[in-house]
Amino acid sequence: MPIIDLRSDTVTKPTDGMREAMARAEVGDDVYGEDPTVNRLQEMAAGLLGKKAALFVPSGTMANQLAIRIQTQPGQEVIVESKAHIVRYEQGAAGALAGVQLHWVTGTRGIMAPEQVEAAIRPQDPYSIQTALICLENTHNSGGGTIYPLATIERIRAVASARRVPMHLDGARLFNAVAATTLPPASYAQHFETVSVCLSKGLGAPAGSLLVTNDLTLIEKARRFRRMYGGAMRQAGILAAAGIYALEHHVGRLQEDHDNAKRLARKLQQIPAVTINPQHVDTNIVIFDVTGHRLTPPALVDALKQDGVLINAIGGGSFRAVTHLDVSAAAIDRAGEVFARLLG
Ligand SMILES: *Cc1c(COP(=O)(O)O)cnc(C)c1O
Repeated sequence: MPIIDLRSDTVTKPTDGMREAMARAEVGDDVYGEDPTVNRLQEMAAGLLGKKAALFVPSGTMANQLAIRIQTQPGQEVIVESKAHIVRYEQGAAGALAGVQLHWVTGTRGIMAPEQVEAAIRPQDPYSIQTALICLENTHNSGGGTIYPLATIERIRAVASARRVPMHLDGARLFNAVAATTLPPASYAQHFETVSVCLSKGLGAPAGSLLVTNDLTLIEKARRFRRMYGGAMRQAGILAAAGIYALEHHVGRLQEDHDNAKRLARKLQQIPAVTINPQHVDTNIVIFDVTGHRLTPPALVDALKQDGVLINAIGGGSFRAVTHLDVSAAAIDRAGEVFARLLG
């Protein structure tokens, strides 16, 4: 039986079609701006998000960190949700590389309320630290793939504009929100000075993210810091071709992942030891708790692995399962049987 890998949607492998597109890619030296495939991907991403320019970078972490670096000064502060990727999974880069302090706001399943953001913006007196940037994450990974309601974003934007603070969207998983709501990506992106999107999550490219903005001065600044951070690549068109293929072929199918996540959630809900609210499964991430089991969380992960199902324990009695391109509805049914046997 093949392994069912639900640890993350980053585990997806390039499909045959994607590999063919990569093999055929026209390339050039992107440090000279001469890679036609990178240029095409950047134009495509900017167009999709309704912005003027995009910069291709190796990872989502780099895209977020460039956004922070180009919109802040050392000693300033960035407002961000307390379980955000920028807080948890970027090795303190905002402090280490941009010299800024992160101001955490604890949201509800990752979503900050406009009033919370407003209260977190510092006064402009001579002794308070200055708020330089507000970062939102859509969908919110650790919140459980939560979709930011557009109305909430609009209200946060109004607060930010009134206080003249720019906004960055960590949109690594933005296309999941787009697939679930059927809102155009630009309807989210219009509220942010910078947006990062990731090609290697549910979209299935082997690597790559984009930083997108309307501000050509910001893009040139980002290009310089990308070089400083070691992210300027040469014949990167090989990777960009995978990104173009992903945007053309894999955005439309994300709803399948969401359906599979709901399917898994309903199966888990039937197991008495499991606590889960299927209504909290907005997209492709399923977070659930297991209580009163004889096995510890790591032992449970091991036992599932013996039966061919991989998931992550995320602390306490919580677990995370993520659906993606390489997991079919039939595989979800099989995983459901394994969960029922081991947790029942
Ligand atoms: C995956 C992810 C990133 C970027 O991760 P990398 O591993 O650096 O590509 C950023 N933000 C969110 C919300 C993510 O899910």
